Amino acid sequence: MPRSLVALALLAATAGPARAQDPVQLAVDLSDVQGRIIRSRLDIPVRPGLLTLYYPKWVPGTHGPTTPLADVAGFRVRANGADVPWLRDPADPHAVNLTVPEGAKTLEVAFDLLLPGLNEPPARQNTVASGRLAVLNFCDLLVYPKAAKAMDTPFRLTLTLPNGWTHGSALEPVNLNPVELRRNVNSFFPCSLETLIDSPLLCGLHTKSLPIGADGKHRVFLACDSEAGLDVPADVKAGWEKLVEQADKMFGSRPYGSYTFLLALSDKIRFRGLEHHESSDNRLPEMTLQTPHLRLYSAGLFPHEFVHAWCGKFRRPAGMIVPDFQATPDTRMLWAYEGLTNYLGWVLTARSGLISAEAARDDLAGTAERMKNARGRSWRPLEDTGTSSHVLAGSRGAWGAWRRSLDYYDEGTLLWLEVDAVIRKETNGAKSLDDFCRAFFACPPGRPAVKGYTFDDIVAGLNAVCPYDWKTHLTRRVTLPSADAPLEGLLLGGWSLGYSDKPNDTHKAGESVSKGMDLTASVGVKVSADGVIGDVVPDSPAAKAKLAPGAKVVAVNQRKFTPELLKSSVAATRAGGKLELLVENGDWFSTATVAYNGGLRYPKLERTQAEPDRMGAILAPR
Ligand SMILES: [Zn+2]
Repeated sequence: MPRSLVALALLAATAGPARAQDPVQLAVDLSDVQGRIIRSRLDIPVRPGLLTLYYPKWVPGTHGPTTPLADVAGFRVRANGADVPWLRDPADPHAVNLTVPEGAKTLEVAFDLLLPGLNEPPARQNTVASGRLAVLNFCDLLVYPKAAKAMDTPFRLTLTLPNGWTHGSALEPVNLNPVELRRNVNSFFPCSLETLIDSPLLCGLHTKSLPIGADGKHRVFLACDSEAGLDVPADVKAGWEKLVEQADKMFGSRPYGSYTFLLALSDKIRFRGLEHHESSDNRLPEMTLQTPHLRLYSAGLFPHEFVHAWCGKFRRPAGMIVPDFQATPDTRMLWAYEGLTNYLGWVLTARSGLISAEAARDDLAGTAERMKNARGRSWRPLEDTGTSSHVLAGSRGAWGAWRRSLDYYDEGTLLWLEVDAVIRKETNGAKSLDDFCRAFFACPPGRPAVKGYTFDDIVAGLNAVCPYDWKTHLTRRVTLPSADAPLEGLLLGGWSLGYSDKPNDTHKAGESVSKGMDLTASVGVKVSADGVIGDVVPDSPAAKAKLAPGAKVVAVNQRKFTPELLKSSVAATRAGGKLELLVENGDWFSTATVAYNGGLRYPKLERTQAEPDRMGAILAPR
């Protein structure tokens, strides 16, 4: 860095916003959302001198630097009616440095967020819009002044929506005056930068607000691309009500004043869930609530994101509590943040009746099979999938079994199932992981301050419920490579991983959504509906036949590929049928002979007699 820039950076490090009590005014305008542009305008109270403005980089919950910096256009800064030149920090593209001119009390910042076209495949982005709805995440739509306590910077939001659109969020709206009502300008009470970024907003033409439970503290706010998709079946609503009731019984206290499940239903945005303190951002296909296999596939979404209000938002690994949105969080303990959430979400999905106990076991069988195939465990310990989370999140799906993926979710489920089963066994059923949760996540009424924890805090919390060598046990599970998946929790739960020649409904739902075939438990390969190999399990029959991710199966046993033909040919291997695949890889064709005779195989849990059915007790409603 040249000396002049070093001096600028040093000075900027000590400069900050003025008049801290005055909120930054943020005006977000969706009038041109059909033109695929969202406009942001900010009035930032300032003092003359050097100033650094940050575009948020690390987005909580995504565990990565996921704001769309490349889609920020038209960035202009003005003060005293004139343009203010700015200079991007060469060492940090999310920062711009500038000099606030003498006499200026307010800095006007304007930029546009460019959205991808609706004919492109939906992107996994924080802020998304279809033709009829939008999900706003304000991390994408603002800049903030560098400051020692940047998270506390007050912001006041106003939001202009297209005619006829309404909105829902955890933000507190100000009652509209008639003029604002006509122009669909919506105002909100000031809140901190941290709360604003923690409060996504869902809006659209077709919306519905559905109260959940009797005490008026929970609701689901839905927006959909059609009126028809907003219809909530009675059994789904009953499951959501049970979810709140069962979570109350599990945790014993609530880390929020009220809670809003935001549910965006559109085929033009991607499946996603993201946790927040008093809301969650859930996105599913347009007709999910009317489509049995989509309901089954997504049943665990609300429970997972809801659990995060306790596990991830209220309490999180101390290294993930950061001073601003530029600091890199330490994500090595995602096996606790996400792993425990994934396990408790799975438990609550069954306890709330959103799926049956059998479907919960089928789901767990798929989890166990995926982790059995995660051969990368032999070199990458579970903890490193967390430390490397933001790198792995951007990796290709291909080679996932050898590279490992975000395994702190699936392996976290197996790890915490084992912890729960050990507690139940050691205490003869008197205690369970619920007791740990009630103590570890205990909080006063209302919205408490974030409370960090360490590895040792988890060990101490578990020992308080059930004395055991948790430190050695968890250290081994989390920090050491291993050839074998941790399936001991299944066995202690009274079940083992077996196989069936028929896929269960959960497996079928997964294949319907991915539009491919998961044959990892048989030949060791995933294949898309048009024959492209998605992943190959190392050492599997497919790997030994030199099948590679990205190659395309064009013929099976000399006949043109169809998904049905591939499945029936795999099934026929059990009766001695051969499996010869003609494979196209770039400009080259080759024949792969797969040495395999096991027929179709799909994971399925089987009851063992060695242990009582602890899993049944875990999944039963309280
Ligand atoms: Zn999560």
